[in-house]
Amino acid sequence: MTEKNKQIFKIRHSLAHILAMAVLDKYKDAKVTIGPVVENGFYYDIDFGEKKITDADLKDFQKKMKKIISQKFNFKKIKVSKEEALNKVKGNEYKEELIGEFANEGKDITFYSTGDNFEDLCEGPHVENTSEIDTSAFMLTKVAGAYWRGDEKNKMLTRIYGVAFESKKDLEEYKTQMREAEKRDHRKLGKELELFTFSEHVGGGLPLFTPKGTMIRDLVVEKIAKLQEKLGWQKVTIPHITKSELYKISGHWDKYKDDLFHVRGKSDTKFVMKPMNCPHHTQIYAAFPKSYKDLPIRFAENTMVYRDEQAGELLGLSRVRAITQDDGHAFCTEGQIEQEVKGIVSIIKTFYTDLGMLEDGKYWVSLSAMDPKKPEKYLNEGGIFDKAEAILEKIAKDENLPYKKVEGEAAFYGPKLDFQFRDAIGREWQLGTVQLDFSMPKRFGLEYTDEKGEKQTPVMIHRAIAGSLERFMSVVIEHFAGEFPFWMSPVQARIIPVGDFANEYSRNIFEKVKKAGFRVEFDDSNNGFGKKIRMAKKEKLPYFIVIGDKDMEMSKLTLESIKGDSEQITIEELLEKFKEENK
Ligand SMILES: [Zn+2]
Ligand SMILES: [Zn+2]
Repeated sequence: MTEKNKQIFKIRHSLAHILAMAVLDKYKDAKVTIGPVVENGFYYDIDFGEKKITDADLKDFQKKMKKIISQKFNFKKIKVSKEEALNKVKGNEYKEELIGEFANEGKDITFYSTGDNFEDLCEGPHVENTSEIDTSAFMLTKVAGAYWRGDEKNKMLTRIYGVAFESKKDLEEYKTQMREAEKRDHRKLGKELELFTFSEHVGGGLPLFTPKGTMIRDLVVEKIAKLQEKLGWQKVTIPHITKSELYKISGHWDKYKDDLFHVRGKSDTKFVMKPMNCPHHTQIYAAFPKSYKDLPIRFAENTMVYRDEQAGELLGLSRVRAITQDDGHAFCTEGQIEQEVKGIVSIIKTFYTDLGMLEDGKYWVSLSAMDPKKPEKYLNEGGIFDKAEAILEKIAKDENLPYKKVEGEAAFYGPKLDFQFRDAIGREWQLGTVQLDFSMPKRFGLEYTDEKGEKQTPVMIHRAIAGSLERFMSVVIEHFAGEFPFWMSPVQARIIPVGDFANEYSRNIFEKVKKAGFRVEFDDSNNGFGKKIRMAKKEKLPYFIVIGDKDMEMSKLTLESIKGDSEQITIEELLEKFKEENK
């Protein structure tokens, strides 16, 4: 987030005021409400009454804003009493509401004036003078609806967004990034590459994966399974509905009951679609007596959970109602925390290294710690929270993770490590996570018998490697712009004969590559050679293998990559190369 004292914050915030001025210049009766700074820019929520704001309005507002800026107005802070403040905003019930609240909280009430004719309720800070704003480094971007204070029960206002930077160059870079993001949009590429679809008959937020999309999911799951198998993770299976009572015990009910899908059966028992798997896994643990010799125990599965997200918030695969978690829970003794977390971190590191996403500067790890000013908020019996934090920090150091300790970010039940990745165009995504939990084992009365024959409570560790498969897919589609790594590609290569004369030779190559276990296709369609090549490129296949008369004469083939490389090699060399890349 932008720091308040930075010049760019002041510029963006000042522009919000200037936008309000421009709006009021054209629509005298509009009521301006709040106009905060957001990532890359600012917005202002405005009540235009019945009036609908169009793109033409945006153009007018932007023109007017530039005019205002060029008049070199000063921003001045004015401190007022509650009465004076209410007098200034008379007729604007939104600002009146805010002033009432500020007064109740005992806050100072301040306005900022811009020039002689405009004042806005605000705590600042702002630029000293509008001349500090580069008129070529900002633009209004879009109009959206937004409820007053984000509450559906309130009136729908018009939100006008703008982006702003210190220089024109920064704005141009931002525009380039946005264009690139549009090209990579996973919803667009998902359709073009035939990976997934949505159906209005099935419902919003419920993605349907095609054979190719499912192939990618399976490859990811398989890869994770291989990595964690070596470390003693075992697969478990649970049903998708459960008695709601389970979440009352786990403590999730009060917080999440409105976001669950409720299921009605024949009996009076209330069921829900599971929104998470942790409580189920505790019940597998609890089913059989455990001794310290059995620990750690590690359960993993890939399974869907269901959350009733607001229709307006659904977004491609990034925000869905059916979410496949690559979920896992380890149960261990306090003394085993370090070894266990280390194991999980090693899986995350290997997985993302193989994806090429774990390079220096392209990721960082957030160590969510407790707020040292409010230690009473956390479960810290016998100092277990402090110890766990220290262990996570030690692991982060031992493993050379670029970590930041973020105080106050931990849940009350334990600290965690979140892996944040920067994608090809600089956006950040949280994917892998390791979270300690000192609460749930207690709530479910989980036990093990220690060396002395006494009952102890195990520590629970939640972990995800890819996060949800849907979000993971949206991120990798956009990161790779649909050009997946070889091992993840649903189709790894296609054989394309230059003409019919090469068909038999090509088919022979095709059989050999297929037999070696690679996902290869043979294009013997009636399309012309040029079209076949264009199609292979459009589908973003990592390789296509072209067979012409020269290749046949020399008993070779021509391997072309999507990156534009081309080489003439033998079938043995090809298989060797593919084997190497599949690792
Ligand atoms: Zn302000
Ligand atoms: Zn969990």
